[in-house]
Amino acid sequence: MTLTDATCDFLSSLENALPPKALRPVTPAYVEEPRGTWQGQAAAVVAPQTAQQVAQVLRLANAARVGVVPYGGGTGLVGGQVMPDGPKPILLSLERMTAVRALYPLENLMIAEAGAILQDLHGAARGVDRLFPLSFGAKGSARIGGSLSTNAGGVNVLRYGNTRELCLGLEAVLPDGRILNNLSRLRKDNTGYDLRDLFIGAEGTLGVITAATLRLSPRPAAEGTALMVVSSPSDALDLLALARDHLAEGISAFELINRTGLDFLAEHLADVRQPFDTPPEWFVLIDVGLMRGIDPAEALETLFADAFERGLVQDGLIAQSEAQRAAFWEVRERIPEANRMVGSICSHDISVPLGLIPDFITRAGAALEKMGDYRINCFGHLGDGNLHYNVFPAKGRSRAEYAAQKAAISGVVHELVHALEGSFSAEHGVGRLKTADLERYADPVKLQLMRGLKDLFDPNGIMNPGAVLRARS
Ligand SMILES: Cc1cc2nc3c(=O)[nH]c(=O)nc-3n(C[C@H](O)[C@H](O)[C@H](O)COP(=O)(O)OP(=O)(O)OC[C@H]3O[C@@H](n4cnc5c(N)ncnc54)[C@H](O)[C@@H]3O)c2cc1C
Repeated sequence: MTLTDATCDFLSSLENALPPKALRPVTPAYVEEPRGTWQGQAAAVVAPQTAQQVAQVLRLANAARVGVVPYGGGTGLVGGQVMPDGPKPILLSLERMTAVRALYPLENLMIAEAGAILQDLHGAARGVDRLFPLSFGAKGSARIGGSLSTNAGGVNVLRYGNTRELCLGLEAVLPDGRILNNLSRLRKDNTGYDLRDLFIGAEGTLGVITAATLRLSPRPAAEGTALMVVSSPSDALDLLALARDHLAEGISAFELINRTGLDFLAEHLADVRQPFDTPPEWFVLIDVGLMRGIDPAEALETLFADAFERGLVQDGLIAQSEAQRAAFWEVRERIPEANRMVGSICSHDISVPLGLIPDFITRAGAALEKMGDYRINCFGHLGDGNLHYNVFPAKGRSRAEYAAQKAAISGVVHELVHALEGSFSAEHGVGRLKTADLERYADPVKLQLMRGLKDLFDPNGIMNPGAVLRARS
């Protein structure tokens, strides 16, 4: 189905149908994305305040065959929220739908609108002595609708699951303006197909999420953080198993960090305090949240002593204060910023079965060594089998010198991931960056069903054209 530009007449029809100030100018922030790979384009930003207004926008866009790009916090890393070419769409921003509609502490639930910012949801949950555990570096800007749409992961997946696991129900608007009301508070409801799961991870290609029922957890009585030096990713995995023996579900995060990350921080973000006098080749950040009666620092010391005796760790630091915890986390959370300052040739967000992580790191490193002179920053959510495997120019050289090698490097990494039965996109999604990878690596039947679902939900192809599935020509 051919789409058309959002013309002045179309924008006037929106203006007439919506309350004043719903249409906003397209300022640069709306059409840029964090990695600067694409520059989006849009005729207007439309910011409705209710699901009914979203429905009105979609009805008009569907009738006029105008593309609609849903927009949360704009922090997506695969270009899902920016449309660089094609007929000019509108950006449908959820920025004015930020309310927490209801809190049910007894049921460990809250119902929030899609535009609520993650950090604000953390505060809302804390206000009723509960925890909303979804957290990652962009928590100050990412919105829950965007996080659901990318099924974001982050640092607490090991314990609490991806965004999908934190969602019990949704309210979503279909491209023809129908509103699906599925804001369920039920943990058990086996009544047919689970439509909620179709919208989660759909990256705005099936409809617009306007609200969600979110799972809360009890707040841990005390939290602790440690950095432990290991001699290899394989030892890090053994340490994870040992940590689980000691602390079971008490482990909230288990992050692997490589020396290259520390080097990049030292080179570009000197204000980040280096934790070790001599930077180790590999170390892990372990975060625990424990119930009453267990002191996290003591529990981590016991774990360290056991791991040391078994030869799994060589050195370690256990936070003795909240300030020290924050300093340890800063090391992990500012690595992506340092990466951006160095400028990668290409980056990968991959997962492989947990037991194959060491194999992946060894084989990918060996394959790339044969191809050229690179620096590799491999770090990430080891506990989830998810690594950010980013490839950088050798020191003193620029990424431009390597431009011609980019596709070959990514090809090697993704082919290896595929051979190990892993995923070329563990937590960031497909967006516009990885549509070709999806076509190459997805099971053909999965792809056919995805196409079928897209045609069923969005027969005119107005929803986020070109994201996830290439737009039909
Ligand atoms: C510093 C940094 C750290 C990050 N760390 C992580 C991490 O650890 N783990 C992780 O998984 N991701 C991470 N990300 C990626 C990003 O933050 C997540 O993908 C986030 O969930 C996107 O939320 P957003 O509100 O910014 O969505 P946007 O970027 O605005 O949109 C993302 C996608 O969702 C669609 N969309 C947005 N809102 C809706 C809606 N209401 N209905 C339907 N579709 C919608 C958009 O069209 C787009 O396709 C990080 C990003 C940055 C910049």
